[in-house]
Parts: sequence; C-alpha cells; structure tokens
Amino acid sequence: MGTWRTLSLRTKLTFWYVSLMAIVLTTSAAIAHMYLSRSLRRAVDASLSEQVQLIEARLRALEHGREFPEPRSERFTIAPAFVELITPKGEIADVAAASENERVPIHPETLERVRGSRVPIGEDARTRDGRAMRVVTWRALDARGDVAYFIRAGYVIEDIRRAERKLLGTLLVTTALALIVASLGGLFLTTRALRLVDRLTRAARAITARNLKERVEVPPSRDELARLADTFNQMIARLDEAFERERRFTDDASHELRTPLAILRSELEIALRRERPAEEYRQVLQRCLDEVLRLSHLTDDLLLLSRSESGRLVLNLAPLSLDAICHDILEQMRPIAATRHLDLTLQESEEPLRVRGDPQRLRQLFLNLLDNALKFTPPGGRVTLRMSRSEMHARVEVEDTGCGISPEDLPHIFERFYRRPSGETAGAGLGLAISRWIVQAHRGRIWVESEPGRGSRFIVELPLAEMAEEGQ
Ligand code: ADP
Repeated sequence: MGTWRTLSLRTKLTFWYVSLMAIVLTTSAAIAHMYLSRSLRRAVDASLSEQVQLIEARLRALEHGREFPEPRSERFTIAPAFVELITPKGEIADVAAASENERVPIHPETLERVRGSRVPIGEDARTRDGRAMRVVTWRALDARGDVAYFIRAGYVIEDIRRAERKLLGTLLVTTALALIVASLGGLFLTTRALRLVDRLTRAARAITARNLKERVEVPPSRDELARLADTFNQMIARLDEAFERERRFTDDASHELRTPLAILRSELEIALRRERPAEEYRQVLQRCLDEVLRLSHLTDDLLLLSRSESGRLVLNLAPLSLDAICHDILEQMRPIAATRHLDLTLQESEEPLRVRGDPQRLRQLFLNLLDNALKFTPPGGRVTLRMSRSEMHARVEVEDTGCGISPEDLPHIFERFYRRPSGETAGAGLGLAISRWIVQAHRGRIWVESEPGRGSRFIVELPLAEMAEEGQ
C-alpha cells in the first residue's frame, strides 16, 4: 500500500480506468463465448434429438404393427457418427457406426437421468481417440411403460470446438488491444487534465514573497480545474495584499517613529553641548518628556492598529448606555474646549441609546472624533455632540465649525497615517483609522460630511442592542 500511495494521480486514475475496462471486456467476452457454444450445441442437440425420437417412434410402431412414421425434419439434419440401441441393463443391443473410434462409453448415471426425463438429454463426451463429441440419449418404452431400449446418437463436434477456440483467440486479442488503447488513451486524457494541476504545483512552488504578482493562467472552461486555478489566484492575491499591507505598515511605522526620535536626539545633544542653568535643563527635559509621551501614545496606537488588522484584538462586548459614555467624554473634554474658547454642547436623543459594545473602545472612538473637532476648529467656534436613534441604529454626530476637509482629502482621511499635508497640528494620522476599525468591529458605519471653511460632521451609526443581539 505504501508504494500505491506514492504513485501519481495520473497512474492511479489510468489504473482504475484500465481495470474497469478489463472487467467489462472480459465479462462481455465470456458472455459472447458462452452464448456461442450454447447455441451451437443446442443446434446439434436438436438434430440428434429429432433422430433418436424418430427411432423411438419406429420402435413403437414396430411393437404395435403400425407403419413407420416418415422423418419430417424442417431443421438441418446432421449425419450422426453412431447410433446405438442399448438394453435397459446398459448393454449394447445394436449399433450403426462409421468407425469404432467415434464411439463413447456408456454412463449408467446418464441412463438413469434419461429414465426420468421427458426430453432427450445431450452431453459432451470424448471419443476413444480424444475428440470432442456431443451425445444425445433417449429411451423407448414398452406397452407397460417401462424402458424397452435406450437410444443414443453421437456427433463429433471438433468443428464447434475449433470455432469456439477461434472466437476465444479473437476475443483475447481484441480485449488486449482494447486495453492497450484504453491505457494509452487514459494516460493521455489524465495527462491533459492534470497538466493544469502540474502547472499550479509548479507555480505554487515558485511563489515567494517576492513574486506574489504572478498568476497562473485560468483555462477558459468553467470546470473544476478552472475553479481551482481561480481559487489559487485569489489566494495569491490575498497573500499579496496581506504582504503589501504588512510592508506598508512597517514602512509607515518606522517613518513615524523616526521624527520624534530625531527631535529627542537633537534636544538632548544640544543640551549636552555646554553647561546650562538648571532652568534650561528643566525646559529641555520637559520638551523631551512631551516627545516621549507622544511616542508612547503613538506606539500604543500602532500596536492597536496592527492587532486589529491581524484580527488579534478582541472586543469585550457588553450591553451599555451610549448616553453615559458621551456624557463622560463631554465632561472630560470641557476644560480643553474652554482653553481654546470653543463652545462644546451635547444634544441628547429623547430615548436612551443602548448598544452592545466595548466601553473602552467606544470611549476611544468618541474621544478621537471630539479631539479632532476641537483641534481643527479655530477659537470662537462651536463643537456639537448630537445623539439620535433611528429604527435600527444609534446615531452619534460630532459636528464642528472648523476648517473643514477639502474634497481631495475627503476620500483618504480614514486611511492610516493620512493627515493633511499642510497640517500644523501634531498627529500621526492614526486616529481616524483606529476610529473606523472600532466602528466596523461593532458592525456599525462611520462617514463624514464636510465643507471646507465651514466645518465637518462625522457620523457614527451603531446597531442598537436589540438588533445587535438578534444578529449574533
Ligand atoms: P490626526 O492624528 O492627524 O488627527 P486623524 O486620523 O485623526 O489623524 O485625522 C486625519 C486627518 O483628517 C487630519 O490630519 C485632518 O487633516 C483631517 N481631519 C480629521 N478630523 C477633522 C476635522 N474635524 N476637521 C477638519 N479636518 C479633520
């Protein structure tokens, strides 16, 4: 079995195909052979039977002193090699034979069988010189109904045997030829069918992280192989995408980390260049601390994004009140709004908004949005947090009267590391990417409407708790 497993699919398929073919062909050859020999023997038996029955009729006529019946054969008649009259004891009473060689011994069992039979019995036998013979035995009854004589007629059937052998030979040769053709054909067909599989195998072997742009050719048919090739290509495409994302992420992340590190380094280098008063050191340390805080914030964000993208970040979902979270955040942001001279207001919905969510992540989401709104709105402006509910969703809008977002920036602001090129406000461009991930992880939607110079409105829709539970 070990070696069977190592065989190629092509060999195995061909093997099964040829085996099946061999079974079918030999069975039909056997049937053809059997049919031929049966029908030939039946013809011989019919003729011999007719002759022994005629003799029987004559014997009966003799006994009753009637006329001999005339033979009235419509079938072909063969000349028997011998005709015998046998006593009930099994001894030969009379014989007409062309040659002594064309005689066969008497079997008592056959005579017994004939006694009970209603028709003559035909059997295969061998002559003294070894030739094949067909012998038909019948009986003639006396007035009391006992066997008066057994009558036997034999016919040499070497011709039939020859015909049988010839047929057998022909069948063997044609079967063998058919099997050879079948195995070649099978091999050809499976090779053709499996060529694509081979190509896929080679392509899969050749593919490394560096040539993920390559694809295998998809055959124009819509069969299993085409689907296999298609699926394979899709898998490579997904791998390609994943690799690309990974690479971009690493690039972006190292780029982001470089700037704060460079600032830290130059601050420290300049400070160390000469002796300075304590106050100056304190200022340098303060700036360095700010930079370190920014760095640690950034690495937290990066870690979060990377985990979320690889699916390793799990949400701790629980039913919660969105109103409470928004209240909390608003209170938290109020001092910042006040220092920037911004008017921060909350418009609550009439009904309570309950969703299934991760409280920590939802806080992070609304903090990001509010933080941006406060950041991009000049003093004197207004920031509104508006809550409402539709049939299925809780809706939270963060609206500002700030600088707005240009139509060119609009499609990109949710991308990682995207920030307005001229943006003077410090930020790594991760906030909205994280916000979008949080919303999507809650099976919600986030989008933005904005008019440059007039302000922006970020809209978040989250499924209400009943809905979220139904969907689970
Ligand atoms: P950052 O950390 O730089 O704020 P975000 O992902 O939060 O990164 O935002 C990406 C960019 O989207 C910002 O740099 C800014 O250009 C734009 N943006 C976000 N929120 C607002 C807003 N409320 N008003 C105007 N522009 C905004």
